Amino acid sequence: MPERGNRPRAKKAPEPPAPASAMSIHAHPDDQEFTVGGTLAKWARAGCRIVTVCITSGEGGSNDSTPAEMTRDRLLPLREQEQRAACRVLGVEEVVFLGYPDGVLEPTIALRRDLTRLIRRHRPAAVLCGDPSVRFYGSTYINHPDHRAAAQVALDAVFPSAETRFIFPELLDEGLAPHKVAAVFLHGSEKADTFVDIAEVLDVKLAALREHRSQMGDWDPTEMIKQWAAEQGRPRKLAAAEAYRRMRLHD
Ligand SMILES: [Zn+2]
Repeated sequence: MPERGNRPRAKKAPEPPAPASAMSIHAHPDDQEFTVGGTLAKWARAGCRIVTVCITSGEGGSNDSTPAEMTRDRLLPLREQEQRAACRVLGVEEVVFLGYPDGVLEPTIALRRDLTRLIRRHRPAAVLCGDPSVRFYGSTYINHPDHRAAAQVALDAVFPSAETRFIFPELLDEGLAPHKVAAVFLHGSEKADTFVDIAEVLDVKLAALREHRSQMGDWDPTEMIKQWAAEQGRPRKLAAAEAYRRMRLHD
């Protein structure tokens, strides 16, 4: 048995190159900008074609800065508009809203079919989503149930639904052939193994986030986002990063 000291150190995987195409799947407008916005901005600038899928339109989102006269019906188009504007800043080509009600999202088969349809239609090489196994972040934030449901169904749609011919055979009737997603990037994972350096696009991430005016109010997210990026980059000595658990499903 070789001595521990002589064993070569595990090689740290380098940052993966931008995929040719990607689908970013989230529960609410602004989830994407908080979590994977830097990565998308970087990939878009490298020529990656990106589709954003927003499962709800965020009409349940309110905070201290939401005017008292605001209603769900009025908030819905506003939040869609903000998400489209944020996507333009990042360089995302297309945004799809699935129209599920905000705040009560469930991991249903209907949602799995809808996401499978989109994956088969757009055929992304990579999918970005949350980590459905994370229930708590530190001791101050319980992961939103919509986030967990969105992440769970996104993964279920990637595997096995999108790549298996006879799951949702009705999609074949729509002309949608199976598609194999090569890699999945899970943000917010406790088992991060992949680090995307976002130092050069941190300003773009912040600019995209600021488009969500109905949620930001007067709050400037700069300090918090910089701190998150520094924390996520620390394992690789990067000044600013977005960290992922990466599943490589196909070559
Ligand atoms: Zn959210």
